[in-house]
Amino acid sequence: MDRHALLEARAELAQGIRASEDWHPSYKSQETTFRALLRYEAQLDTQTAEYLAGLALRAPEYVDWAQVPTVHAAATPLANKADEVWGNEMIDMTKAVIDAITMLTVTGGQFGELTYNMAIGTSSLSDWVLESARTQTAKLVTQVTDTNRKLISEAIKQSVARGEDKTATMARISEVINNPVRAEMIAHTESVNAYQGGLLGFGRETGATKKTYEALAGACPICAPLDGETVGIDETFSNGVDRPPSHPRCRCNTYIVY
Ligand SMILES: [Zn+2]
Repeated sequence: MDRHALLEARAELAQGIRASEDWHPSYKSQETTFRALLRYEAQLDTQTAEYLAGLALRAPEYVDWAQVPTVHAAATPLANKADEVWGNEMIDMTKAVIDAITMLTVTGGQFGELTYNMAIGTSSLSDWVLESARTQTAKLVTQVTDTNRKLISEAIKQSVARGEDKTATMARISEVINNPVRAEMIAHTESVNAYQGGLLGFGRETGATKKTYEALAGACPICAPLDGETVGIDETFSNGVDRPPSHPRCRCNTYIVY
């Protein structure tokens, strides 16, 4: 099997596993949008994994190897946060994920249309969809890039502490960055985030005034205390989020109130 076929098989497998997991029942109440959610989540997973695999190959170029054998805790041989290489990485990651996040936002909006029986023509051209997807993507890319820098710095420190050579250090960097489990967790959490962003946007567009948190008690014990909490459509819930996910892999829902 070539790499593309492997990725396709992986995406298909992920959708099958995901479909059988516990979701708040509302997600599965519309079959078309549930299938779309799983499909675009798999796309986001693949794109994120591909981006991280590429970064793992590029990362050694961002390290000043002359400094590495003598680096002490206060210094980092890694390109500074303000260095243009990280700006370019953020552009690359944005390109990799924004289409899937946009379509997941559309999917949440379309779930709203079907569920509340109001067709407003939600699409990947809707201004409110584009804005929601752009805001989420910018936040995600900033967070992931900060974490990538920390992971690379930490990998270098670990290698220095063990007296490893450049080859071993590069292998250590590659291992922490090219991590399919992390890509999968990012995709899972951010697909719920985008979908719920779409649902909330739909609510705003159609004049909803409030929203109610619907926790999935079994799968989301962290969210159980929030179940049934109702706040204004633009307010945050008592845990500080304006919509699920409240934690990685959260599969809770919001109910739109008119
Ligand atoms: Zn939850």
